[in-house]
Amino acid sequence: MDTKTLLEWSAKYHTPNYGSRAPIVLVRGDGVRVWDSDGREYLDFGAGIAVTSLGHCHPRVTGAIQEAAATLLHVSNLYHAAPQIHLAKLLIEHSFADRVFFSNSGAEANEAALKLARKYARERIASDRFEFIATRNSFHGRTFATVAATGQEKYHHGFEPLPPGFKHVAYNDLRAMERAIDNRTAAVIVECIQGEGGVHVADEDYLRGLRKLCDQSGALLILDEIQTGVARTGRLWCYEHYGIEPDIMTLAKALANGVPIGAMLTREEIASVLVAGTHGSTFGGTPFVTSVALATLTTILDGKLWERASRMGRYLMDGLRAIQASNPTVRVVRGKGLLIGAELSAPVAPVVDACREAGLLVLSAGERVLRLTPPLIVEERDCDRALAIIGTALGPAG
Ligand SMILES: *Cc1c(COP(=O)(O)O)cnc(C)c1O
Repeated sequence: MDTKTLLEWSAKYHTPNYGSRAPIVLVRGDGVRVWDSDGREYLDFGAGIAVTSLGHCHPRVTGAIQEAAATLLHVSNLYHAAPQIHLAKLLIEHSFADRVFFSNSGAEANEAALKLARKYARERIASDRFEFIATRNSFHGRTFATVAATGQEKYHHGFEPLPPGFKHVAYNDLRAMERAIDNRTAAVIVECIQGEGGVHVADEDYLRGLRKLCDQSGALLILDEIQTGVARTGRLWCYEHYGIEPDIMTLAKALANGVPIGAMLTREEIASVLVAGTHGSTFGGTPFVTSVALATLTTILDGKLWERASRMGRYLMDGLRAIQASNPTVRVVRGKGLLIGAELSAPVAPVVDACREAGLLVLSAGERVLRLTPPLIVEERDCDRALAIIGTALGPAG
């Protein structure tokens, strides 16, 4: 099938919500590279929105997929399955948490977190304690509850009425949070770095301050680490940068290197309200996906890939700052590890297009932020090439 026909059929047969999709058809990937249906090669500095952290077709991931496919794909959660148990154990051994629930996506992990927090607050603290406080510019998913948690009007538009019980305050503003928390607050939900919202990094004292406010008021602290988790920011979990621990953490994107998975992690005492029958998922944590996640997480742990994320992140950010020094279109460069944003003084969409045409896939975050989330296995020479393309795509200096 030729590319032109595929693009015509795509426009004809899909719901139009992905209408701004890039006009290429990707057919193959290997490491940091992907190829389109016309044989053009791209450096992939989006990694499927911070998902394919080990790169495309990593041998350990591919091996786990092949083995699981030939052993057991799915049995439902009516039965136990060893890979799910091993993955739960590994996540618990390497995090603050005591208990884990598996879902199929980030939104579903957050949905589970919100349901759990509300049930815990109402049953263990006070029956009228059901509200959530989230932050402006946040992104927590597209289901009704998670879109209500999301602090961006554009995702709400047309879907009202949204589920009640969500308030939003400015990010990195402890005073605003202090004013918003009261004896109706079940939980505060925040990202350590707002990914979709523009790569806004939590200030040093922000998460510590939130931890304190939650402890004082009895509200739970939910950290949405769906984009920041699993070594992306230079630590296994982004909260480690801040010297605090959440009550609930959600994961998804990079956890199985591209096979759909979500996870909600929490402490024993909180998990205890989720008694038999209160929550569930048909597909959540299948033997297939959990074997792939096990291979992914083991590879990341064995290679201490957060160290690599930290080192390569510094290299890439230094490179972007060098571009900034001679090109005032770049206003600010920010991020942690390999979750990096460059805020521009102009719309980012033409820059994303120009990069792609020059053989580099990058992401945007909002109207004006260029977002880079390359695989953690990226090398300096890949970064050099990406920086050269970005420099050209940004247009003439000065
Ligand atoms: C991507 C993302 C989600 C939603 O995940 P889906 O798998 O698309 O449902 C939620 N929160 C954050 C921070 C994300 O980056």
